[in-house]
Amino acid sequence: MESHYDTHQGSAILRRQQDSVGPTATQLTAAVTLGCVKLVDATGYEHAISVTCCTSFQQLNKMLQVLFECKSIEARIQRQYMEQGQYDLCIDDDKQVTRLTSHVHEWPRIEAGTTIVMRIVFEQDIDTQVEYQCYMCGTVNRIDAKHSLQRQAGFSINCRICKRRFQISREYSSKPKTQFSIDYTEAETHLIRNFHVQQMEVCVLVF
Ligand SMILES: [Zn+2]
Repeated sequence: MESHYDTHQGSAILRRQQDSVGPTATQLTAAVTLGCVKLVDATGYEHAISVTCCTSFQQLNKMLQVLFECKSIEARIQRQYMEQGQYDLCIDDDKQVTRLTSHVHEWPRIEAGTTIVMRIVFEQDIDTQVEYQCYMCGTVNRIDAKHSLQRQAGFSINCRICKRRFQISREYSSKPKTQFSIDYTEAETHLIRNFHVQQMEVCVLVF
C-alpha cells in the first residue's frame, strides 16, 4: 500500500518536473544547499550536521557523542545505549534500509540531503509465529506479500499503533544473547522512536 506521504511527495516531484525545463537545481532543498545531512536520532529528533562530518563511521560516531553531551533525558538515554554498543546507523529511504557499518570499504559516499537514522538495537529470541510485532507496544503489524519479500533485503515499517519506526532482522550467532545492563524506567524507554530488533538464532556446532 502506498502511504499518503509517498503520494504527496510523488506529486510534488512531478509538479517540479513540469515547472522546470533545465536541470534539477530547483529540487535542491535547503539542507542540500547548506551541505547538510539530516540525522534523525533514536528519539526522533532531527539534527542538521555537515556532510563533511560523515566520511566514516568513526567520525559520525564522534558527532553523535557531541550531540548527546547535553543534559536532556533523551541525550542521557542515547548516550548509555551508545556506550553499550546497542545502536546502529542506517540510511532509510522508506523502501530499503542500508546499514552503515564500521567496515571502511562498505562506507557509502554520503551526499548532502541524505537522511541518516540512529536506531536502538534490541535483541530478541527467534519467534517465528508473530510477524513484525512491535517491541515497544506489542502490536502485531501485518505486512503484505510484497513486503515479506522486501524484508529479506531489509526494510523498516511504522508501527500502526505507536507509530514508532522499526526493522526486525534475523542474525545467526555462535554466541548467546548479550545481556545488557541498562535498566530504564518505562517512561524513559518510551522516548525511543526508532529501533531495530535483532532476532538471534544461536548456531550450535555439532561434530
Ligand atoms: Zn508499536
